[in-house]
Amino acid sequence: MVRTIELNKRQEQILEIVKDNGPITGEHIADRLNLTRATLRPDLAILTMAGYLDARPRVGYFYTGKTGTQLLTERLQKLFVKDFQSIPVVVNENVSVYDAIVTMFLEDVGTLFVVDQDSLLVGVLSRKDLLRASIGKQELTTLPVNIIMTRMPNITMCTREDLMIEIAKKLIEKQIDALPVVKETEKGFEVVGRMTKTNLTKAFLALAEND
Ligand code: ADP
Repeated sequence: MVRTIELNKRQEQILEIVKDNGPITGEHIADRLNLTRATLRPDLAILTMAGYLDARPRVGYFYTGKTGTQLLTERLQKLFVKDFQSIPVVVNENVSVYDAIVTMFLEDVGTLFVVDQDSLLVGVLSRKDLLRASIGKQELTTLPVNIIMTRMPNITMCTREDLMIEIAKKLIEKQIDALPVVKETEKGFEVVGRMTKTNLTKAFLALAEND
């Protein structure tokens, strides 16, 4: 596991040397630290991968001048939905609220996506939507979910190509827990994935651990 945000003492020393003397070869950095080139190789690789240093063949290493925040922003701009999405759990719009509750428990998800007979997205069901329906006097086994769901066109969606940072913005702005990942067709939107606060937390962890 490589932590690119926190540098160790030797990596800090290398940065200082390159800042003051770059471009400088690996050999010369090693000399200044009284170490062998081989000992230094992993540190140089980490600093280059993390974007602190740049290496040019036959010239050597030089300091990119990028701050930790700039580098973090660059890495955030590389996290896409397609790398973190989960499998969607969908129910047909005609199933009962009772069956939707059972599905939510069995599939262990907090949000269900509702589709029509053509498998196109028509609605979203959250935990509270189902709880709200349950505290009324309705018969849950005969009440279809399309009566209580949040419906199109009021569904916030995303695509596989969206950035994780855009997902974070949407979840916070709309105060919701999940988004369907969709693919647009001539007829409507097909559900191809699920994006939740958990997926976002996983992306956050990947960023910290440089997975
Ligand atoms: P909870 O009901 O557990 O608070 P949410 O915060 O996700 O869960 O849902 C709040 C409301 O927003 C619910 O009525 C739900 O139907 C709706 N909702 C959830 N996800 C979406 C979405 N992606 N687009 C539009 N509405 C949504």
